[in-house]
Amino acid sequence: MRNGEVSYWWHALGGFPPRRASLPGPLEADVCIVGGGYTGLWTAYYLAERRPDARIVVLEAAFAGYGASGRNGGWVTSELPGSRAIYARGPRGADGVRALEAELRSTVDEVGRVCEAESIDCDFVRGGRMSVATSPTQLARLRSALTHARDWGDGDDVYTFLSGAEASERINVAGALGALYAPASARVQPAALASGLAAAVERRGVSIYEATPVTEILPVAGGPDGAAAVARTMFGDVRARSVLRCTEGFTARLPGARRALLPMNSSMVVTEPLPADVWKQIGWDGFETLSDEAHAYMYAQRTADGRIAIGGRGVPYRFGSATDQLGATQPSTAAALGEVVHRMFPAAAGAQLDHAWCGVLGVPRDWCASVTYDASSGLGWAGGYSGHGVAAANLAGRTLADLVAGTQSPLTSLPWVGHRSRTWEPEPARWAGVHGLYALYRLADRLETPADDPAGRGGQARVVLGEALGRVGDVISGIPH
Ligand SMILES: Cc1cc2nc3c(=O)[nH]c(=O)nc-3n(C[C@H](O)[C@H](O)[C@H](O)COP(=O)(O)OP(=O)(O)OC[C@H]3O[C@@H](n4cnc5c(N)ncnc54)[C@H](O)[C@@H]3O)c2cc1C
Repeated sequence: MRNGEVSYWWHALGGFPPRRASLPGPLEADVCIVGGGYTGLWTAYYLAERRPDARIVVLEAAFAGYGASGRNGGWVTSELPGSRAIYARGPRGADGVRALEAELRSTVDEVGRVCEAESIDCDFVRGGRMSVATSPTQLARLRSALTHARDWGDGDDVYTFLSGAEASERINVAGALGALYAPASARVQPAALASGLAAAVERRGVSIYEATPVTEILPVAGGPDGAAAVARTMFGDVRARSVLRCTEGFTARLPGARRALLPMNSSMVVTEPLPADVWKQIGWDGFETLSDEAHAYMYAQRTADGRIAIGGRGVPYRFGSATDQLGATQPSTAAALGEVVHRMFPAAAGAQLDHAWCGVLGVPRDWCASVTYDASSGLGWAGGYSGHGVAAANLAGRTLADLVAGTQSPLTSLPWVGHRSRTWEPEPARWAGVHGLYALYRLADRLETPADDPAGRGGQARVVLGEALGRVGDVISGIPH
């Protein structure tokens, strides 16, 4: 089994892409985007559309799609990054939250539209999303999530409840007791999307400089050349009217932003291609994105090349906001994800794992994302999608493009615009808190769904304790609903 090499997705495309040139030296631009993941690339894409004459540069520390954007689960999901209740505290209240959720749903189609328009071949299939319950407590959580969604006005077009049998007809998950199905979700090959998007951005005249880490972002108010801000690199400064920080899980490396976003780790494995008779037993012909309802949940997709790709938390966080080495994950995490594949899909019990990897996503202290731009300093940023960043980065990029272009649009008044979250605790409290939280979640999952009694019939007390611990975890983390 390969481990690391950034991700299976890049490996499937033939390995690391040919490297673009680094920044040739000091430069002036209208807009400088730091980070060549989905957020930076979508921002560049829409800005170049809105202002075709603008000089736009993207500075990328490694290569476009090196970060979470080339490693994720490939769910283009409309799920809200964070809590409705927190966004509802903004001036537009609950209506603002509904508007944000509606935009996220239509973003799934927007990603598909651009993929078609730009001939980005990334296996985009809009098959919806299915969250499956495999224990009575998971089922209870599903039902309560549905009630909550209905209270917010989500009808059958947003969420439908599926019985265990209906869920199994779509995807034959062992022990499925029920599922929630949401049509607004698509499956993609993440690195193919990042790579195709980078090429589309270049076709629009944007310059992408790779192997160019930005060491500092600074305002330079009143600069003689009209620049408002500077992105500093070892090759020289880029002075620009606007400098946008699009570094999500890597943000802690930048001075002044060390406690802004926590680099949460997520790990994935992919099986070898499964034979046709195994797929016949599993189904999954609709290519839905799939998750379960555990506290430390899994997420999965059926890949275009006939594999199961599945992810989960593993080691959640590295001390001091450190990040991985080229995506290598712990063998024990890969083994645990392999067990989940075999437990959920007994038909695939003989399948080998071909590749394991991990990456970091950015989590703000209140788990709510932000798109922020200050026209006077020229500084902006977007991110903090807390694991729901593939569609959200497109919407954030469109929004940031409007803000930078000075265009008032329905997007610029969405409740995540200008949203502020407090900073994370200093170490060692940060490390202890995150590890303690996930230890609690794992214990809650084990108690709720004992291996020897998955239906949880034998040990009601254990199950109740598990549920209680899960709720305590939600309160401690501030993970709101
Ligand atoms: C394993 C995994 C699975 C996930 N699965 C899903 C999923 O299925 N669906 C979903 O919606 N979300 C998922 N996410 C989250 C989602 O992938 C991210 O939220 C999203 O890709 C963030 O995009 P981004 O461009 O903001 O950040 P990134 O893709 O991380 O890009 C940031 C870029 O900035 C560069 N950079 C960092 N610092 C600097 C610097 N100082 N100078 C220059 N460049 C810099 C990095 O090299 C990187 O390329 C997952 C994340 C991971 C890690």
